[in-house]
Amino acid sequence: MTRPAFKRILLKLSGEVLMGQGQFGIDPETVDRIAGEIGAARQAGFELCVVVGGGNIFRGLAAAAKGFDRTSADYMGMLATVMNALAVQNALERMGHDTRVQSAIPMASVCEPYIRRRAERHLEKGRIVIFAAGTGNPFFTTDTAAALRAAEMNCDALFKGTSVDGVYNADPKKVADATRYETVTFDRVLNDHLKVMDASAIALCRENNIPIVVFNIRETGNLAKVLAGEGTATIVQA
Ligand code: UDP
Repeated sequence: MTRPAFKRILLKLSGEVLMGQGQFGIDPETVDRIAGEIGAARQAGFELCVVVGGGNIFRGLAAAAKGFDRTSADYMGMLATVMNALAVQNALERMGHDTRVQSAIPMASVCEPYIRRRAERHLEKGRIVIFAAGTGNPFFTTDTAAALRAAEMNCDALFKGTSVDGVYNADPKKVADATRYETVTFDRVLNDHLKVMDASAIALCRENNIPIVVFNIRETGNLAKVLAGEGTATIVQA
């Protein structure tokens, strides 16, 4: 099956893929490897927006379950995504790629604030734009931020780089004969509660007709393959 060609993409990196083999934090070698793949995609002609998660450092919901105030915890989670964004930017720039980090929570001495028109200009100039601090609002996730930025930046597709190679009809860790979808509709994902992204992110992509390509970014070289329409992945679409 041939997959559609995309030009401008939003890559969502969950925080946990930056941990490498570790259990917490940022593994510089893994960040370099992923940055190398992002840079290669840019050089291959893709326009790239990146949204980074923060789960490798701090998750608001998990902290709230242990007694933290949820709102404060979510702000901490958003700050964690800024650290990850700076790590990815640093790796990309060491490799000679022009990048900008834009944060949904303004922090002028660290990075630019999120300004859509400016981000658009960066993309036109061939820069890779990394969006940090999620949506800037507590009670959201960086998946929803990814869907939101993909819609705002008119991205052709949202590529969700995770630790699994697509979307399954059941949890493959628990169900031996779980099968992977090649394509699956937004409606089925929502109705069957399939684990792709949270419901608000799926609904945003559905409303704006942005396909979601779910693939394993822990596998070296996989980003180039899925961008070329090859490799193992699931496309969530209308
Ligand atoms: N977060 C938030 N609002 C947002 C995005 C993120 O409050 O718009 C917080 C939330 O606490 C979340 C944390 O930031 O747990 C890290 O983001 P996420 O869990 O989405 O990261 P990922 O799972 O992709 O690593």
